[in-house]
Amino acid sequence: MKRYFLAFALLLALSPVKAQLVNEKPKLVVGIVVDQMRYDYLTRFWDQFGNDGFKRMVNNGFTFKNNHFNYIPTYTGPGHASVFTGTTPASHGIIGNGWYNKFEEEPVYCVSDSSVKSVGTESYAGEMSPHRMLSTTFADENRLHTQMKGKTIGVALKDRGAILPAGHTANAAYWFHGKEEGHWISSSFYMEDLPKWVKDFNSSGKAKSYLKTWNTVKDVNSYAQSGIDENNFEFGYDGKETATFPYDLKKLAPQNGDFDIIKATPFGNDLTADFAKAAIKGESLGKDEITDVLTLSFSSTDYVGHNFGVNSKEVEDTYIRLDLAIADVLKYLDQEVGEGQYTVFLTSDHGAVDVPAYLKSKNIPSGYFDDGKARDKLETFAKEEFKVDSLIRNVSNSQIFLNYGLMKQKKLLAEDVESKIAHFMLQQDNISKVFTRDQLVSAGYASGISGSIQNGYNQKRSGDIVFVTDPGYIVYPEKGTTHGSGFSYDTHVPLIFFGKGIKKGSTFEHSEIPDIAPTISAMLGISFPNATTGKPLSIMLKD
Ligand SMILES: [Zn+2]
Repeated sequence: MKRYFLAFALLLALSPVKAQLVNEKPKLVVGIVVDQMRYDYLTRFWDQFGNDGFKRMVNNGFTFKNNHFNYIPTYTGPGHASVFTGTTPASHGIIGNGWYNKFEEEPVYCVSDSSVKSVGTESYAGEMSPHRMLSTTFADENRLHTQMKGKTIGVALKDRGAILPAGHTANAAYWFHGKEEGHWISSSFYMEDLPKWVKDFNSSGKAKSYLKTWNTVKDVNSYAQSGIDENNFEFGYDGKETATFPYDLKKLAPQNGDFDIIKATPFGNDLTADFAKAAIKGESLGKDEITDVLTLSFSSTDYVGHNFGVNSKEVEDTYIRLDLAIADVLKYLDQEVGEGQYTVFLTSDHGAVDVPAYLKSKNIPSGYFDDGKARDKLETFAKEEFKVDSLIRNVSNSQIFLNYGLMKQKKLLAEDVESKIAHFMLQQDNISKVFTRDQLVSAGYASGISGSIQNGYNQKRSGDIVFVTDPGYIVYPEKGTTHGSGFSYDTHVPLIFFGKGIKKGSTFEHSEIPDIAPTISAMLGISFPNATTGKPLSIMLKD
C-alpha cells in the first residue's frame, strides 16, 4: 500500500503539471449575427468574396457546416436571444418578435418597455429593454465573472438585434432610428444621455452619406449566382416601377420612410460597421486583459431578403458588400485590439425560404397560407361546436390562444376544446401538423418538427394550439420572402469561429444554435448562461 502511494506521488511529481484550467483569454469577443443569412449564402457567393472577410474567417477559423435552429418559430427576436443565452424560447421566453400577452390581454413587442425612456430621440423608439428575456446571456455571465469590469456593448440597426444579445447587464445597446432623424439611439435602461462618441457619430453626417445611388459593386454580368434582375418575385421600393438596379436612394427616401430606406439596402450594413468601429474606439473595447464583449448584428440582409427574395441580384450584391464590411471590421480589430487577441463568431438568427411563387414556377410544392381566412373558418367552427362567441382570443406566430375566462364560465374543458380545434385545423389545406398544449406539456419530443415546436414552446407565454404548414408554405404576399418555420431553409445557418483559442478546421457534425453561448463560456472559463440547454462545441476549442 505504502509503496503504491510513493509510486503515485512520484508519478505526480514527474508528470508535467497542467498549469491552468483556462487558456489565456481573448481581450474581446465579437458575436456577429447576420440577419436572415442562410448557410448556402456562404457557398453560393464564395467565389464572389474577397480574401479578408468571410474567407479569412473560414480559412483560418472553424466552420460548422451543419448548424441549425432547434426550435420554432425562427424569427429575429427568438434568434438573437437563443444565440446569446444558449437556450430556446421554452426557457428564455422570447417566443416571437411580438406575441399576444394573455395575462395583459394585449399584443406585446419583445423588447418594448414603457417603464424606460428614449435616449437620443424624442420618439418612442428608445423605450426598449431586455426585461422580457427570462435568462442571462454569456455577456451577462462575463460581467458577473469579472465583477462588472468586462464591458458589454450591443450594436444593430434593429433594437431587438442590439438589446437581446447584450443582455441584462450591458453597459449599452445602440440601435438606429431612421425616419427624419437618422440617429443611433438608446434607452434610459442603460444611460441618461448618449456618450460623446455617439453624439459625434450622429452629427458626422455618416448616415446621410448613404442616401446615394445603389448600384452593383461589381459588374452585374458577373453576378451568376442569382436570377435575372427584372422578374415577378420582388417588391422593390415605392416610387420606382421595377425592382431593378440602379436605385437612387436620395430620390426614393421621402416615399420610403426617409432615413429608414438605408436599412433596406446594403448601406445599412456599412453604417452598422462604421458605428461598430466607433464603438470599439469610443468604449476602448479590448484594451486590457479583462475580456469585453461586442455584439454586432447586421440587419440589412433581412430587409433586403424580405423585399427581393433569396434568388435576387439585390441579395447577391448585399452579401458581396457585407463581405467587404466584415473585412473592414476585422482589419480594424487587428489594428485596435491586435491580431490574434480577439475571438469572433458569426452566425444568423434564421434563414429564409426561396420565394414560393418562384419555387412553384419550378414545380416545387410551395405556396401561401391565408391565416386570416383560416381564422374566420376557425371562429365559425368554434361557434357551432361550442355554442359560444369569441372563444378564440388571438392567432399569432402559428399559435391559437383560447379565451380561458369564457371556457371557465361555460364549463368547457380545456383539453376537449384544444383537441377539437386541433382536429379541425388539421383538416385545413396545407396544414401538416397540429399540437395542443396538453400534448406539449405532457410528452417529451426529442427531435424533428415536434421537438422544435416543444423547444419553442413556453408553457406560460405560448398559445394553446400550435400548427405547422407544409414545407414551402408561408403567410406572406406573393413577392419577396419570409421565415419562421422549422424547415431546413429556415434552420440551417452558418456558424464560424475565428481568432484566439480557436482551432482551424470544419465539420459536418450537427450543431445547434444554443451550443454557441456555452462554447464561448467554456472558452472564457465563466459560468454558462443560467438556463443553458446547449453544449460546448469542444471539437474546435484549444485545450
Ligand atoms: Zn425577417
